[in-house]
This record gives sequence, C-alpha cells and structure tokens, in this order.
Amino acid sequence: MTRYILSRMRSTAVLAVVGLLVASLAAQAPTEYDFLIKGGRVIDPRNAIDGVRDVAIKDGRIAAVAANIAASRAMKAVDARGLVVTPGLIDLHVHVFPGEKLRDYAGGDWSVFPDGFTLRSCVTTVNDAGTSGWRNFPEFKRRIIDQSKTRVTAFLNIVGHGMGSGAIEQNADDMDGAMTANMALQHKGVVVGIKSAHYNGTDWKPYEQAVIAGTKAGIPVMIDFGGNVKAGRTLMDLFMTHLRPGDIFTHMYGGVRGEQDQTTKGPSAAMVAGRKKGIIFDVGHGGASFRYSAAIPMMKAGFLPDSISTDLHTSSMNSAMKDMLNLMSKFLAMGVSLPEVIRQSTWNPARQVALESLGHLSVGASADVAVLRVEKGRFGYADPVGGRLDGTQRLSCELTVRDGKVVYDLNGMIADPWNTLPANARGGDPKWDRTRGH
Ligand SMILES: [Zn+2]
Repeated sequence: MTRYILSRMRSTAVLAVVGLLVASLAAQAPTEYDFLIKGGRVIDPRNAIDGVRDVAIKDGRIAAVAANIAASRAMKAVDARGLVVTPGLIDLHVHVFPGEKLRDYAGGDWSVFPDGFTLRSCVTTVNDAGTSGWRNFPEFKRRIIDQSKTRVTAFLNIVGHGMGSGAIEQNADDMDGAMTANMALQHKGVVVGIKSAHYNGTDWKPYEQAVIAGTKAGIPVMIDFGGNVKAGRTLMDLFMTHLRPGDIFTHMYGGVRGEQDQTTKGPSAAMVAGRKKGIIFDVGHGGASFRYSAAIPMMKAGFLPDSISTDLHTSSMNSAMKDMLNLMSKFLAMGVSLPEVIRQSTWNPARQVALESLGHLSVGASADVAVLRVEKGRFGYADPVGGRLDGTQRLSCELTVRDGKVVYDLNGMIADPWNTLPANARGGDPKWDRTRGH
C-alpha cells in the first residue's frame, strides 16, 4: 500500500514536472505574431487590395497580409468576419491645442484634446491645421503632441501666435515666412505643412509668406481663403499666381469663396484650373464650411475631394459634422464608393503631407489599423445650413490599433467572457493591449 502510494506520488511528481516543462516551453515559445485580425474585408487602396484577408502584426508593424493565417501563430487573434479592415484613418484638418485662453484656438477653449474624439472614430493620425504658429508650437508639442495616444502632426500657422480671435490672426506684422520655416525645419516629420486662415485684409501677404515658409521647409501650404470675396482676391489668382502644385485648398465645398460656377453650380473655372495645376482639394467640413448645395452639384460634375477631413473644434464637434466616420458616411450617401471614401481618408492625406509610411497596410508599415462596421438602416446626414440627405449605411468604429496596440475596442472584441478570467486578471498583454485603464 505504502509502496503503491509512493509510486503514485512519484509518477504524479514526474507528470507534474513534465507538465511544468511543457507549460514553460509553451509560454516561452516565441509566437510569430503579436496580434492577428482574421477574416475581415481588407480595403487598402494604396496596395489595390479589396478582399477577405488576415492581417498579422508584430512589434508595431504590419507583418503579413494573407488569405489564411492560423490563429495559433499569434499571441492574440480577433474575429473580424463581416467587418471592414482598413489603414488607420487620417484626419488632415483638426484643432487640438486646448488650454486656458478664452475665445482662442491656440492654447484656448475652442480646441479639443485629440484622444477624446479620434480613437473612438478609428482615426489614428490627426493633422492640426494651423492652431499654433512658430511662437507657441513648442508648447503645443510639449503639452499635446508628445502626450497623446493619437499620432498628431501639425501645420504651422503663418501667424506667429497661431490661430486666435480677431486681431491675433489678422496681424500681418506677425506673419514671418523665415521664422515659420525655421521652426518647421526643427521638427521635420511633425510639422508637415504651413497654414493660412481667416484673413480679411485686401493684400496677399499671408499667402506669400506661407509659400515662402513652405518652400524653405519643403512642405505644402493649406489655405482657408478667409474673406477673399469681400477683399477682392480671386481663387484664380490664388491657384495660378501664388500656390504651388501640391498646396492644399481646404473648405472646398463651403460654397462662399467662388468654388462654384454661377450658372451650372458645378466647379468654377478656377477650381478646374487649380486641379489641373496640381492643387489638392480638402473637405475641412467644420461648423459651417460644407453645404450640399455646393458639394452635390460639384461632385455630380466629377469634382470629388482629394481628402475628407473634419475641421474638428468645439463649434463643429456636435454640429452637422460630428466626427470622421459621420463625414465618410455622408460621402457614401452622396454616392461615393466605400473604397474611394477609404482612399480619401487614408492614403491620399498621408501622401499630401509626405507621411508615406502611413495610410496603408504594406508589410513593414506602422501597424495603424481601423476595423469598421458598415451598419445598414435608415440614417440621416445634415449639413450646417439645415439640409439633410438620407442614407442607408453608416460606418461605425469597432476596433482601433495604433502602432500594433489596440487603443479602442467598442464591443470587447479583445476581451474574454468575464467568468473565465483568472482571479488576478489585468487585461491583455501590453504587446497588443493599450486599452487598460489606470
Ligand atoms: Zn480649421
């Protein structure tokens, strides 16, 4: 009996040791991938992919995009069947430099913190469109750009003090192309363009100084053409005399700056000539810079946007604009195809600001990924002047991945049933999970 027990104990001990060995081997066996998104419809316009694929991620980069990658090859796999997998969305025009100043975008209460609006809309990169100028960009970088989970790049305002109300942004004495270029050159890859906005003067100084800065720093300029009509400045002169190919005109469907032909309501001769020259056209929807009476006739005439962007700030966030996915859905409702809408929100804006490592799912690219749901039903899309367009589809954000880590997960796709967790559970491995709270 004793011998039997002893031998039982011995064999149990041997089994336990073998079990431990197997377990530790399994724990140490390097899995090929950190994270795997299986079975979604991958739309990657830059690589001309539109089909069901698995997307594998390792060390923050896309490691493989293929028809069938076994779940066992990754630390964590999620099921994206029925969903759309795209590059992380890029919003070319936002205002994300909040602070204490009243009635001000730069360090003021008209800007918003990016992470509250971006990741939940599947946006992984935002480009701040001229909220800061060369004088306050370092503060913007320290407080916001370096602290956000969202990737934030910036256009420097040609006004040294950046975007503010009234006299601040109308002050032509504070528009210095050389100083602006110096700051841009100190932050290559973060400062990716120059902005001019809201100017009401009759001269061309902001545009001339912006182009001087952009030429010195080798980056594009983006123009909000402000009060051009009252000031007597024309779009044709802006495009043909002042801007360079690759420069960007935002608020393209605003309908108040000479964008439309008076008779046909399609694009004006200036818009057509600008596009021919290589000017880039951006939506910049904002609180008041988009209307169907401009967008629909211009699009019917073939004048589609190069980039869809929000112009996110406190006056647009709860208006007809709402967020990037609402705008993309609005363009679906206007008849643009889903792959084209994805292109206008990923690869096109990346290219416009020469961030060519972003906006696609090539092997080796930064693993910024959006997992979208195309909801079917009855939806309505408003514009800022009270118009509505009905639609049958709405995009929603299921999962957002930045640099290979999940940063937003609407329906708990990465989580397990709560009653299967060990007592000491702390969320997923930090190699792929960045959703854990503090
Ligand atoms: Zn703006």
